Amino acid sequence: MNWEKNVRRVEPYVAGEQPKAEDVIKLNTNECPYPPAPAVRRIAENLDCDKLRLYPDMNAEKLVNALAEYYHVSPAQVFVGVGSDDVLAMAFMTFFNGEQPILFPDITYSFYDVWAELLRIPYKRCPLDENFCIKKEDYLAPNGGIIIPNPNAPTGVLEDISMFEEIASANPDSVVIVDEAYVDFGGRSMIPLVDKYDNLMVVQTFSKSRAMAGMRIGFAIANEKMIGYLKDVKFSFNSYTMNMPAIEMGTAAVLDDAYFKEIVGKIIKTREWTKEQLGRLGFAFSDSQSNFLFVTHKSAPAKEIFLALKENNIYVRYWNKPRIDNYLRITIGTDEQMEKLVAFLEDYLKERKND
Ligand code: PMP
Repeated sequence: MNWEKNVRRVEPYVAGEQPKAEDVIKLNTNECPYPPAPAVRRIAENLDCDKLRLYPDMNAEKLVNALAEYYHVSPAQVFVGVGSDDVLAMAFMTFFNGEQPILFPDITYSFYDVWAELLRIPYKRCPLDENFCIKKEDYLAPNGGIIIPNPNAPTGVLEDISMFEEIASANPDSVVIVDEAYVDFGGRSMIPLVDKYDNLMVVQTFSKSRAMAGMRIGFAIANEKMIGYLKDVKFSFNSYTMNMPAIEMGTAAVLDDAYFKEIVGKIIKTREWTKEQLGRLGFAFSDSQSNFLFVTHKSAPAKEIFLALKENNIYVRYWNKPRIDNYLRITIGTDEQMEKLVAFLEDYLKERKND
């Protein structure tokens, strides 16, 4: 068993559960409850399987061009990948290559420390304040790079763009990545600022607001130089990451802006309704601007609620981790799903009180 001493040992990221049963209300992985744009379905239905003989376009030009046009940047400023996880992993590998620790919040997307460990990047977690807000000063210390989601996950807290501008200006020697996985649900994107800050990179995904988690599409936008470095690493690793259907369907999704706005609008409306209802039931939460709520209850422990929900086929996300072990992250589903969730919680809390 000597070979084991040369193994790169890692503790992998743990994704939310994907239950097999069909009849569950699945509010645990921030997926979109609506189908992708109708044009995406048409492409799936008319897919020319003969073309699968061939390698896909390694530059995913069609998708890159559509994104460049949509976000008013040049195609050389766009990098696409297999979900934003792929894009972020490439960015960690490319830009976080110094001796100083990279910085990210203590409560944040739990893949960041996994990539840092895998790639042997030193890192430091900066504690959020008691309202789960970023403490800007923490990011003004020497560092080897910065990554922060806005809105943050799993808190849903949106920070003002001006804070990220200050962080980017104060760190000219580091790359600052803003992970905008949830920005379409109420935030303002920093994409228009990538020409102003030569160390700023914005990463987004098709998994939430574009309803395509299953297709795995993500992208980064920055200046041409940064995107060039990112491509050099990507093409030193695996040239053909995005498959042909993903490129075609992703492009169709970008082109249907009306549908995109319609489903995002619906989710925001349902989110605001859910906030009112959960507030009424005694839950506390910050004012999420994402497609999920991060809630805690004044008397019922989160873990108990989580298990009770699961037993009744309603899946939400719970982490047994410091500072957040009395919180649940609830993805916003359809109106009907959220009505069922609220009705269940109402009964559950009433019964619990009577016990
Ligand atoms: N960033 C954040 C903050 C996320 O919550 C997620 C979703 N798990 C991702 C990135 C990755 O999403 P995807 O790989 O599906 O694009």
